[in-house]
Amino acid sequence: MCGIIGIIGTSKAPLEIYQGLLLLQHRGQDAAGILNYDFDQNLYSLEKNQGYVDKVFTPESLGKMSGQMSIGHTRYSTVGSLDINDVQPMTLNYPYGLGIAHNGNLVNFDELKKFLNEKKKRFLFSKNDGEILINLISDYLSYILKKNEFEHTQFHPEILFSAIRYLFEYALGGYSIVGTIAPFGLFACKDPNGIRPLLLGKKETDEGISYCLASESFVLEFLGYNVERDLEPGEIVFISKEGKLYSSIVNPQPKKQCMFEWVYFSNPESSLDGKSIYKSRLNLGKMLSHKILKLIDNDEISPDFVVPVPETSKIAATAIAEHLSLPLRPVLNKNRYIQRSFILNNQDSRENAVKLKLLPIKEDIKGKNLLVIDDSIVRGTTSSRIVKMLKDAGANEIYFASTCPPITHPCGYGIDFPNSEDLIAYQKSEQEITDLLGCHKVIYQTEDDLKSVLGEEICSACLTGDYPTGGEFLANK
Ligand code: SF4
Repeated sequence: MCGIIGIIGTSKAPLEIYQGLLLLQHRGQDAAGILNYDFDQNLYSLEKNQGYVDKVFTPESLGKMSGQMSIGHTRYSTVGSLDINDVQPMTLNYPYGLGIAHNGNLVNFDELKKFLNEKKKRFLFSKNDGEILINLISDYLSYILKKNEFEHTQFHPEILFSAIRYLFEYALGGYSIVGTIAPFGLFACKDPNGIRPLLLGKKETDEGISYCLASESFVLEFLGYNVERDLEPGEIVFISKEGKLYSSIVNPQPKKQCMFEWVYFSNPESSLDGKSIYKSRLNLGKMLSHKILKLIDNDEISPDFVVPVPETSKIAATAIAEHLSLPLRPVLNKNRYIQRSFILNNQDSRENAVKLKLLPIKEDIKGKNLLVIDDSIVRGTTSSRIVKMLKDAGANEIYFASTCPPITHPCGYGIDFPNSEDLIAYQKSEQEITDLLGCHKVIYQTEDDLKSVLGEEICSACLTGDYPTGGEFLANK
């Protein structure tokens, strides 16, 4: 999962992109980059590196950036390495001057790399999907130029729409893109299933109308843009240097927005497809509380209080405590200087992070039955360590509840759980998961209850194995 943002129409674009990336940092912490294009000087500038946004860019480097069209990226690596070649935005100098930043994953990366290399004689420098995407776009635009339908000094949105149509035919996966075509304008698109988020915003400035596209609505709002709408599945948007917006929808499929955005990833201040992340998390908690109440009524569990696992589950845990009329006790204290364990990208760093990031408050735990609430249980590493930590602190019984149903299948669309064997719920019963976690009882949201909160237009492939782009890519996993 990554954060992307693109802006056109204001000389403040580089600074706004930087601020936007700071706000999108929770979506990826491995690397960051900003690509600016200055229409007055016909000049691109690119700065990118590994690390947090505020480390990659210094006041000096920000002070030197200029342009009225910029894109930015904050990276969480699911494909590729931490190599500088994998850091986005990606650029190509032919045809025109192309730049892109994307969020998501391709499921047919290997085939496309081979196709580009052997059929199109294009060598790739990175292991990043972004380089595949920009080369596919470039390949089609080059073909149009070679047919002499256009000079490289000419451009029309229709040829971009055709290029993205070509991209959609080849690139299977879940991805949203923001990109630049110098010296003509900014573009953006969402894959035909609309798996990854992207929203369009607009504002009036002293310089005219400025447009912004970003992964989350709260970023648009923070930067003063009115949130116009979410891009539709298969939608392509082009905004010219003159501020004219063109849009086309290509090969749309049933909408399958990643449910994990509401469950875990997006900032609670954001809304996606018109549904507030905050309210959805409250409702997921409320829904789960019905199931928990039945267990209490049947004397299967008897919690003394509700314990949120910081930070994401706090909202759902609050709703659960309210509906069960139980106290909410934050007895897991978070060390805020440790990264989110889920988005660390190897097992060693994840396990160390779990040990370092949560500290139990023993005096309130000893002898108590705890209803622990987490947003999800993926590998189970964090959850089992939390259970052990609470037991060591003297807890009596621990019930571990997840607002997300059991994750049993890998995600090919940008979330880092690629192998079934890594998932604690893969081919396991609830009793087996309970035993593995070492708790008294594990309690999961059901898929039906998740859908009754989030609606039917969600991707839930990691719960069901029903992949919007087909499941063949999992055969070799
Ligand atoms: S498989 Fe799961 S994590 Fe991946 S896009 Fe679909 S819902 Fe999101």
